[in-house]
Amino acid sequence: MPTPVHGYAAHSSDADLVPWSFERRDLRPDDVELDVLFCGVCHSDIHHVRNDWGGESYPIVPGHEVVGTVTRIGPEVTRYKVGDTVGVGCLVDSCRHCSSCEHDHEQYCENGSTLTYAGKDRHDGTPTYGGYSNKIVVSDRFVLRIPNGLDLAGAAPLLCAGITTYSPLRRWGAGPGRKVAAVGLGGLGHMALKLAKAMGADVTLFSRSPGKEEDARRLGADHIVISGSDEQMQAAASSFDLIIDTVPYDHDLNPYIATLAAEGTIVLVGYLGPLNDTLNTASMVFRGRSLGASLIGGLAETQEMLDFCGQHGITSDVEVIDIKNINEAYTRMLTSDVKYRFVIDLATLEKN
Ligand code: NAP
Ligand code: ZN
Repeated sequence: MPTPVHGYAAHSSDADLVPWSFERRDLRPDDVELDVLFCGVCHSDIHHVRNDWGGESYPIVPGHEVVGTVTRIGPEVTRYKVGDTVGVGCLVDSCRHCSSCEHDHEQYCENGSTLTYAGKDRHDGTPTYGGYSNKIVVSDRFVLRIPNGLDLAGAAPLLCAGITTYSPLRRWGAGPGRKVAAVGLGGLGHMALKLAKAMGADVTLFSRSPGKEEDARRLGADHIVISGSDEQMQAAASSFDLIIDTVPYDHDLNPYIATLAAEGTIVLVGYLGPLNDTLNTASMVFRGRSLGASLIGGLAETQEMLDFCGQHGITSDVEVIDIKNINEAYTRMLTSDVKYRFVIDLATLEKN
């Protein structure tokens, strides 16, 4: 029998999220069912709900930063048992046999990975619904172990904001002797600061918002550059080995490229789409600078990131919210008024 589930859903791109009941599938042999404890609120949730990327089908139950407790397992599940504290990130399945999947890059599955929400189950074609709900059912291969000792609300955003910044920091070699910068101090940006600092890099924040300096230093920044200040941008010229750009909207990359050291790389993880400002390749060619991009991380690397956070005591700085305040949280995120991730406490769902 499918399990009745309660959650919050958007029924169109311009409507508020409202309470909505639906069903989760019967457990397949390799499925794990969790009671969701906490779910982070990612800017991607807003992009999906508002159909910023096009092609959405409604209703959408967002949420891909899920921490919960295992309540049931299918007969083939050996890695998890009832009562375990586990996580689910942006993916719930992939083809498992293409070259990307075989190299632990399920996020780049050549046959299309299955998103935790706003996707389609690859076995029965039903829509996937995310963690703004009290239960979720996921194949065990896509379930992560949460290290002991981490605050669970603070651990939830690691499942997306954490891995999305950890993966490029690792791939482009953040560490001692390397100068790393993050653009934008939101959910992803604040994780980039914490993780880059823990990896031993010299860390800078680019922010358009004066007033975040004190927080940025506490989160791991050694230096802050206000991106609207030409003077500060010029003083930062030719400095960075790696920049992780988390800005969600179209913006001119040329001023940031000018701050890369020779052979430095700027990695886009925020904005998806065409750029309005023409990229000047001269400043890239003459310094051997690169432009890169990155999508979340594979399952093995996500577990590696969680274990790294367990060892270093890293969690996200969160504001825990009642699920009925989710629409207000979206409004606040759109004005950068979040320190630095909203996390829904699913225990509040029952009260609504
Ligand atoms: P967020 O918490 O809203 O933070 C974004 C930050 O970017 C803001 O705090 C702000 O920082 C800066 N910003 C916002 N609007 C801006 C604008 N118009 N111009 C310049 N700066 C702006 O968002 P998030 O959850 O970190 O997500 C960031 C982006 O990453 C989203 O587009 C999301 O969809 C994407 N994302 C990508 C992946 C991936 O795998 N590649 C994964 C997760 C999320 P300051 O006030 O400090 O400037
Ligand atoms: Zn996300």
